[in-house]
Amino acid sequence: MSTPTTEHENLFIDGAWTPSTGRDRIEVIDPSTEQRLGSVPAATTADVDAAVTAARRALPAWSALDNAERAKALHRLAEALEQRGADMARTVSQQNGMPIAVSAGLEAGFPPLLLRYYADLVADQPRSTRRTGLLGGQIDVVRKPIGVVGVIVPWNFPQTLSMMKIAPALATGNTVVVKPSPETVLDSILLAEAIIEAGLPAGVINIVPGGAEVGSHLVTHPGVDRIAFTGSTATGRTIAEQCGRLLRPVSLELGGKSATIVLDDGDIAGSMEDLFKATLLNNGQTCFLGTRVLAPRNRYSEIVGTLAGLAAAATIGDAVDEATMIGPMVNPRQRDRVEGYIARGKSEGGTVVTGGARPDRPGWFITPTIFSDVTNDAVIAREEIFGPVLTVIAYDSDDDAVAIANDSAYGLGGSVWSTDPERARAFAERIETGTIGINGYNLDPGAPFGGVKDSGLGREWGPEALESYVELQSIYL
Ligand code: NAD
Repeated sequence: MSTPTTEHENLFIDGAWTPSTGRDRIEVIDPSTEQRLGSVPAATTADVDAAVTAARRALPAWSALDNAERAKALHRLAEALEQRGADMARTVSQQNGMPIAVSAGLEAGFPPLLLRYYADLVADQPRSTRRTGLLGGQIDVVRKPIGVVGVIVPWNFPQTLSMMKIAPALATGNTVVVKPSPETVLDSILLAEAIIEAGLPAGVINIVPGGAEVGSHLVTHPGVDRIAFTGSTATGRTIAEQCGRLLRPVSLELGGKSATIVLDDGDIAGSMEDLFKATLLNNGQTCFLGTRVLAPRNRYSEIVGTLAGLAAAATIGDAVDEATMIGPMVNPRQRDRVEGYIARGKSEGGTVVTGGARPDRPGWFITPTIFSDVTNDAVIAREEIFGPVLTVIAYDSDDDAVAIANDSAYGLGGSVWSTDPERARAFAERIETGTIGINGYNLDPGAPFGGVKDSGLGREWGPEALESYVELQSIYL
């Protein structure tokens, strides 16, 4: 099995290790240590062409298989990934700074779980169903795959975000071309090894690591039938425009600036672990985090104090250290961007209660930062920072809290905190967001996940995700 410190010579296209047509390489640096981890060839647009051709070639046979046969293949891939779980978690953490305790669950654990889930959902699903129409005739409604799916993902949860797309796409008979982010390419080598070991037919999954140019080529490729994207809102808009012109189906999981709403009876101090997961998971480099904390004005200083305690107590360290709660930013550009927001928050009158510094150690770290004295119109309350920075905003009534929470371009995650779960549950429905938790944010792949407003289009996860990879054909008998 590969270690993450090796140099890889080939791309994974058409079921085989294939040399790139180009000479460029993508190098990966460990953000915890600033040491080089390894490299892979950078895919070219010609490599994307080869990958799409392979996926198209694989499509007829893969889509013609019985659902049960495809399900067996997905279970085999799940098993091969489970065997590589520890390697996968370490490889992801070394590349993007995700604390290993998080990657063990989310990056090693979720992908096989998703494969098995979608395999079981489709295993005994009929290819078509017959119904009597409104006018009395018989109709067969046939479920067909859409075709070749282009999968484009960011670096923050590279394996799970890929598998959220690959698993339902494959289960419904599509084939895929995956474009990982340049920051996280070594984990895709482990995925390719698992695909080979599982004996998936050649071309069903192809992997082309590269940047925006390669991604854009995939989005607009005439051989691609659907795009599944996770990433920033800016890139999502560009992709949506391109897909709009092509009338190409697209799903978009984009940025967020969600609200953690503490109701006047909310007890955050009693659930520090849940609070951490809902606000600072993965060093703040997580799309659904509730980074705007809304506090009742008469409890404002108490809640600021609780959050400051949470941030100050978080163990900062190398991402592969089991004790680490806060790892580094993925790269120096991201670290500088987060620092820029911290400076902006101060210049707008915000107070840094704790954090906002670079710890004295190698790596691109920022200490978790709590801002008080911030209103919802501050830049740090409106824009996605994608780092460990929380802003605490005061509100005067439940209605005021709803108005502030909904006064955002985004709507992806968030949480409501109350000792009265029914009150919190009713409150949650008033928030314009695709997902929201009560007294925590325990997301679950069994239910639809996605955003409203600038946070995206479409839903992943749950049985609902299958529908977005299916084309329906009505045959009037
Ligand atoms: P990004 O948009 O810069 O890049 C995402 C992916 O798109 C990368 O693979 C990149 O190479 C590729 N890409 C860039 N330009 C492209 C183009 N023009 N055409 C095609 N592909 C292109 O995002 P990022 O900075 O890598 O990731 C962080 C962002 O992702 C944050 O905004 C975060 O909120 C978002 N995100 C959203 C979710 C969600 O589920 N909603 C989950 C994780 C991350």
